[in-house]
Amino acid sequence: MNAKIGVYVCHCGYNIAGKVDVKEVAEYAGTLDNVVIARDYKYMCSDPGQDLIKNDIKEYGLTRVVVASCSPRMHEPTFKSALEKAGLNGYLLEMANIREQCSWVTEDPRQATEKAKALVHGAVRRVVYHEPIEEREVGVNKATLVVGGGIAGIQATLKIAEAGHKVYLVEREPSIGGQMAKFDKTFPTMDCAACILTPKMVAVAQNPNVELLTYSEVLHVDGYVGNFTVTVKQKPRYVDVDKCTGCGDCQKACVLKDRIPCSFEEGLKKRPAAYIPFPQAVPLKAVIDDKHCLQLTKGKCSKKCVKACQRDAIDFSQKEVIRQIEVGSIILATGYELFDARKAPQYGYGIYDDVYTGIEFERITNASGPTQGKILKKNGEEPKRVAVLHCIGSRDENYQKYCSRVCCMSSVKFSHLVKEKTDAEVFEFYIDMRTFGKQYEEFYKRVQEEGVNFIRGKGAEVAEVNGQLVVRAEDTLLGAYREIPVDMVILNTALVPRHDADKVAQIFGISRSPDGFFLESHIKLDPVTTSTDGIYIAGCCQSPKDIPDSVAQGSAAAAEALATIATGKVKISPVTASSNPDICAGCRICIGLCPFKAITFNEEKKVAEINQAVCKGCGTCAAGCPSNAISIAHFNNQQILAEIEGVLR
Ligand SMILES: Cc1cc2nc3c(=O)[nH]c(=O)nc-3n(C[C@H](O)[C@H](O)[C@H](O)COP(=O)(O)OP(=O)(O)OC[C@H]3O[C@@H](n4cnc5c(N)ncnc54)[C@H](O)[C@@H]3O)c2cc1C
Ligand code: SF4
Ligand code: SF4
Repeated sequence: MNAKIGVYVCHCGYNIAGKVDVKEVAEYAGTLDNVVIARDYKYMCSDPGQDLIKNDIKEYGLTRVVVASCSPRMHEPTFKSALEKAGLNGYLLEMANIREQCSWVTEDPRQATEKAKALVHGAVRRVVYHEPIEEREVGVNKATLVVGGGIAGIQATLKIAEAGHKVYLVEREPSIGGQMAKFDKTFPTMDCAACILTPKMVAVAQNPNVELLTYSEVLHVDGYVGNFTVTVKQKPRYVDVDKCTGCGDCQKACVLKDRIPCSFEEGLKKRPAAYIPFPQAVPLKAVIDDKHCLQLTKGKCSKKCVKACQRDAIDFSQKEVIRQIEVGSIILATGYELFDARKAPQYGYGIYDDVYTGIEFERITNASGPTQGKILKKNGEEPKRVAVLHCIGSRDENYQKYCSRVCCMSSVKFSHLVKEKTDAEVFEFYIDMRTFGKQYEEFYKRVQEEGVNFIRGKGAEVAEVNGQLVVRAEDTLLGAYREIPVDMVILNTALVPRHDADKVAQIFGISRSPDGFFLESHIKLDPVTTSTDGIYIAGCCQSPKDIPDSVAQGSAAAAEALATIATGKVKISPVTASSNPDICAGCRICIGLCPFKAITFNEEKKVAEINQAVCKGCGTCAAGCPSNAISIAHFNNQQILAEIEGVLR
């Protein structure tokens, strides 16, 4: 084959050149078959680096290019674009990863240099067999689906709807609002959570571009960027939302009044089976709890709710509704759950009466909560000494290794609220104080000045001694063991992925990081895109974060969706599978293997057919096909075998 190859070995500053002898690798590349020019350069991704490639393509008539640098995940688009600007098809490029897979992981410089040579040899052998392939463009559906109506999802929804485009907001609960709806005040400014959240919730409900689907979940997603078909299940509320005015007469009349632990109140208050989720709920409509309602569970009740409802809104004949919606982009904003403090019994949660979690304390201190905002012990008395413990289940080898990021600040917030509302002495136990955000350090200083006792040492245990709660900890500043008697404990538990994060990831075809949160394309440079084009993530479903960061990500994800809408079309990768009907034996093995459901069976021809628009080119089918009937563009057998032979030299 008469390929004319240019090879470019990048120093990546000291990242590669600190370990690999880049000059030696370039000299070696220059000796390989078909290589016309081989160079090393400090930063190949820089403008002058790319100019080297472009100029050489013209001067030497290069027909193939190899760049030995970082991971293709980082800069493949950069170098592809350099080739295209010089008139070469971008797929005539091959990258040898001599950074992540070589200099960063190989101790010995000599071994690293030899490994880099082997990788470059593999790339040179492979690129000879590359063929020009063209990216396809498809039109874009201008509607967007947002899943999760917490603050991140609300922000994304409003940004897109206000730009004039249709948004379907799917929320699992009967109301939007997410965790923030439960809070009393928000750090660092201590503005009332409801006052800043409710107007946004109402704006969602009132925007004509938003179709709000509460009490709903996504069952299935088909299609690809620009053209997704989403199947949504809407649970019956047993209340006709067009008739219900949210007056609450049904909840007052329900025979199960004050009988069912209310999840919005974290179980600290009870509610009836017919209920309005919370006073600022959107939509402000009643819902009937099908797990407890006597009519729905036993088929027998005096149905006082029906009699009480003057609008005749209660309708026990409602059934679940399955509907399909067509969208171009999807934003996942499914948020977080809290670590179950019972899994760390040393802190006494669920064992002692006055040990609360942070989110329970949010309800206790909330004016609409179980104690109308008064900070009281179970016996109704005001506490005299309160302990606030950080990092329960976070930064702990036994539970979550990561830092939950918001708990230092929510702990400081709780100490401030206890000081503001009671005369109690407050003890806050921390490993180290992470008050990194705007105005956070200032808020921490303010609370220090309010007289809170900050003890540097993780609370090790909460016990009861002669009927008195005590917190045991090692004070690492004093170098002393402390045992502090208190009469109320607030445990700031870790933010953890939703229990069904794995199932949701599978439905949307995205990945999760080792901590269980949804995986972004790039932790720093692409925090809201995912490995599946057209599916974005925002807020705490990506990792624990505060409200400002959740809002920022909601806006960022909306900007990604709006960019797709503005372009009107999207490029689809041509790296897809194709099946040869002359070889396909019709065994259908590939159909079950494809994780993206891209393969169907043509009953007439008795062969498998691959939908190129849905195929992601993962190669699973090609590896599994016993007849060798499937090949993947840009990853065919000849190319892969040539690369392996090259690496083995
Ligand atoms: C105790 C505590 C106090 C805090 N105080 C503050 C504070 O004062 N200031 C601050 O900046 N931050 C604070 N935070 C952090 C704050 O809670 C988060 O930053 C914010 O709530 C994240 O919003 P979100 O939209 O990502 O997630 P969430 O609020 O969790 O919302 C996610 C939404 O998605 C819905 N959902 C989940 N799964 C699905 C599904 N499969 N289909 C459809 N819908 C689904 C949920 O029902 C929910 O409505 C605090 C956190 C805690 C734990
Ligand atoms: S039918 Fe009975 S239990 Fe069910 S919501 Fe109405 S009053 Fe409550
Ligand atoms: S390569 Fe095969 S298995 Fe992978 S997405 Fe395409 S059709 Fe499905």
